Amino acid sequence: MRDGTLVTPSRITLARKRRGMTIVELARRIDVSTQSLSNYERGRQQPSKETLKRVADALKFPPDFFQGEDLEEIQPDSVAFRARSKMSAGKRDVALSVGRLAVEVERYISTRFRLPEADIPTLEKPAPEIAAEMVRSRWGLGQIPVSNMVHLLESRGIRVFSLAPEYAEVDAFSFWQEDKPFIFLNTLKSAERSRFDAAHELGHLVMHGLSRNVAGPEAEQEANAFASAFLMPRKSVVAHMPSGAFVDQIIKGRRIWKVAALALAYRLHDLNILSDWQYRSACVELSKRGYRSSEPGGIQRETSQIFDKVFRSLRGRGVNPSEVAVALNITPQELSQYVFGLTITTHHGEGHNTEGPRPKLRLISSTNDDLPDSTSRRAHG
Ligand SMILES: [Zn+2]
Repeated sequence: MRDGTLVTPSRITLARKRRGMTIVELARRIDVSTQSLSNYERGRQQPSKETLKRVADALKFPPDFFQGEDLEEIQPDSVAFRARSKMSAGKRDVALSVGRLAVEVERYISTRFRLPEADIPTLEKPAPEIAAEMVRSRWGLGQIPVSNMVHLLESRGIRVFSLAPEYAEVDAFSFWQEDKPFIFLNTLKSAERSRFDAAHELGHLVMHGLSRNVAGPEAEQEANAFASAFLMPRKSVVAHMPSGAFVDQIIKGRRIWKVAALALAYRLHDLNILSDWQYRSACVELSKRGYRSSEPGGIQRETSQIFDKVFRSLRGRGVNPSEVAVALNITPQELSQYVFGLTITTHHGEGHNTEGPRPKLRLISSTNDDLPDSTSRRAHG
């Protein structure tokens, strides 16, 4: 900690919410009154150096984290949450603070690398099926299955981050931060469901990004319908799946679009390839075979292409992930949670030779003659 530097109140609040603690809990933990802690967070009083050390220890942030520029919180009403059940305010705050810190990680990267700019059509109230077709058409995907959702989104300027397993309640969430779209994916879910979540969040960005009308069952339904249509385009499904498809054909067919068997069954019903009765019995049979809780024989998890390249490139320059964490004033563990663990493992066994076009990733070093310079502070263009 640098002496003589003031503590930034918003950073105490952010770190506290990141750890899911209330003011009362943290005050007890660091042995000050709730009034004092409240005063620190409102900027009415500065904690002593010793107190700040206790705050830092209790919240597992380096003391330097608390002395930096103001970190404005992300407003809850601008965020689309995909949650398994009604979320408590505390859990929501944890997710929002993760989002805020990820924005800092993104800022670190985008000042050193030129990342793709957002290429997302924001559409005014189209039907989800049409919206999905429009996005596919704009991105030149036609009817082809998406080989890797995370890579595709990244290539279109969406910043995709991972959520640590501690957020079992939150499947995914997304928001716009200035002109950049962010999506967060839970790494606890099966790879197929995570792809669906990614497409669901894309649906929010496309259909609800401008109106900010992202809450409520209607928006959820629209995002689900978008995801289903985006991952399993009508013509492609009709061409590949027989009318009244059997469960074995569904289990085989899910590999074409890399979706969960249940998601394909739902889509088949949606497209009248399965009757009501056939759909219901397919769901019963799939549940019996364990496809409700997991995805037996499923695909490998998708991870970020951008983070992989960025950390590789930084390593080549002699900058280790732990130094990136130091620059961001967070712990290496914290950083790792946001970037699909790619700071720890360099080899993640991703299948690159999958069907479908590989998204073109423009990842350009901000210094055009050399690898990125860790000390350069040039803005991206
Ligand atoms: Zn949603």
